Amino acid sequence: MSIRIAIDGPSGSGKSTLAKNIARALGLTYVDTGALYRAVGLYAQSAGIKKEEASQITKLLPNITVNLLYSDGEQKVFLNGNDVSSLIRTPEISMYASAVSAVPAVRKFLLEIQKKMAHEGNVIMDGRDIGTVIMPDADVKIFLEPSPRERAHRRWLELREKNIACSEEEVYNDIVKRDSNDKNREVSPAVAAEDAIYLDNSGFTAEQTAKAALKIINDKLNRSVL
Ligand code: C5P
Repeated sequence: MSIRIAIDGPSGSGKSTLAKNIARALGLTYVDTGALYRAVGLYAQSAGIKKEEASQITKLLPNITVNLLYSDGEQKVFLNGNDVSSLIRTPEISMYASAVSAVPAVRKFLLEIQKKMAHEGNVIMDGRDIGTVIMPDADVKIFLEPSPRERAHRRWLELREKNIACSEEEVYNDIVKRDSNDKNREVSPAVAAEDAIYLDNSGFTAEQTAKAALKIINDKLNRSVL
């Protein structure tokens, strides 16, 4: 049986850690869709487009090729043939990703590659519109949403570990801004699918979050088999 799991939720909710842990536990391919928007954001930045004028990227889309490749279960993102997996993780590119993700042509551009991965099955995909747009018929949909303060703290710790200098307050302000951009954009706003199950993992460790999610998945799959 091919399993398809959608994990949506705002920035810094722990989606990628959760999706990676579940992928490992259940032997699924993990697709981090945010990386695709980040790669387009990186292209926009290197092309000198300002975040406030993100729609300018539309005319450059024919020059962009984004690919996802997997080695040892690890996803690598290639932008025009170059591995940009690390370059896309800075706070600056987070903001660019959020800006370009509101451009309808960008969402359309990245739709096909995501649908293709979804179609291959045995996947767990994380993003903002997986349960609503990319895999509306996923077997299980989880919407992960801890509080904004908790998310900012986690993201800040992650950035500090990567030696990316910033204050926790800056990360919090970025998160609030990105949440608002993501929820209020016209195309594919980042909202939970009607049949998604909410998981508030505030105060949870990664292990506790994975345990709670695996219970949701087991309950749902057993029920759908019955
Ligand atoms: O998940 P991550 O923080 O890497 O995503 C970067 C940005 O890409 C998000 O702020 C969001 O604007 C956008 N995104 C999206 N739809 C997705 C995944 C990410 O709009 N499915």
